[in-house]
Amino acid sequence: MGRPPLVPPGAELTAQERTRYARHLLLPDVGSDGQRRLRAARVLVVGAGGLGSPALLYLAAAGVGVIGVVDDDVVDTTNLQRQVVHGVADVGRPKTESAADAVHAISPTTQVVQHGERLDEATALGVIADYDLVLDGADNFPTRYLVGDACARLGVPHVWGSVYRFDGQVSVWWAGEGPCYACVFPHQPPPDAVPSCAVGGVLGAVCASIGSVMATEAVKLVTGIGEPLVGRLLVHDALRQTWDALPVTADPGCRVCGSGADATRPLGWATGVPADVEEAAVASAGRPGVDVGALSALLDAGEVDGTEALLLDVREEGERAIVALPGGAWLPIGDVRAGEPVPGLVAGARVYVYCKSGARSAEAVDLLRGRGVDAVNVEGGILAWVAQVDPTLPTY
Ligand SMILES: [Zn+2]
Repeated sequence: MGRPPLVPPGAELTAQERTRYARHLLLPDVGSDGQRRLRAARVLVVGAGGLGSPALLYLAAAGVGVIGVVDDDVVDTTNLQRQVVHGVADVGRPKTESAADAVHAISPTTQVVQHGERLDEATALGVIADYDLVLDGADNFPTRYLVGDACARLGVPHVWGSVYRFDGQVSVWWAGEGPCYACVFPHQPPPDAVPSCAVGGVLGAVCASIGSVMATEAVKLVTGIGEPLVGRLLVHDALRQTWDALPVTADPGCRVCGSGADATRPLGWATGVPADVEEAAVASAGRPGVDVGALSALLDAGEVDGTEALLLDVREEGERAIVALPGGAWLPIGDVRAGEPVPGLVAGARVYVYCKSGARSAEAVDLLRGRGVDAVNVEGGILAWVAQVDPTLPTY
């Protein structure tokens, strides 16, 4: 079902603009009217990363008048494999600055508003209220739920995408017109429960596929052309090169946009903290841990030798290929969950468990201790090791 344009047209186009946007003006149903709507549009892009990058470039090229960019991060070398608004010279710069430069290189008349802070409960509504629609390319669940909640409260369309490895998903959430994000994904996963691209990897060009769908949806919504992805979840498998559109519907009892809504609840936690997260938080209080400095001393002293104590990596194979501590055993977290035995573990020996940053290893420690193994969590994981013990090692 088509919908009316989101943005009223601004002033007539100049001769220069008619030349610049000629290929849009030729399009049925876009024309100069649609181009004026794009120039009058205010679009917020959350995350100047893998999805935000292609979306930003196409929104700029399309002549969107105001583009807001939310990102609190700086450009890192590992970003360059997919985050195409940033270049080698931008490493270390705030992503919002780098993204603003990329937008201005394409469209000097586009106004870029840099939001260099992560959106939170206090700021999200105020920031988003200044825009006609939001493109959400956030890489973490708390931000997605926060943005989804704020958009639903404000009635702003929430163009959402996510990527993982060779797969992508994209939809337009829009409370009142179709489902909101929480209608379809009602439960916020516990932190680190779902693998992220930083752990599982992502094919860079898949970000372009999903990010450009997001930009297309934004242009459609602004100009009122076609049928937006409201009520449909588009699922992309790049290895099979397939796109499937799954119907999704609003949940009448949704705690964000339906009868279960409560405007007094904290933004972004509309779905409540699942009981298992609270249990995990309680369990963490009594979990034995060791910091990387102490572990380094134990290794240097030869006290982690396999018979008295064993080092265990619970990460995936690809992560180990980038960086790993010397020696020790390897059992990916999925195998730990499945109850597989720790290779080479001598009965009674202590197991020092590490992962990337300490979350998966904490889960593994709890599981192993539940099976009677003397497991200890290496706090901060390999990232802490690189930061504090050996900065010459690569990170990811
Ligand atoms: Zn909802």
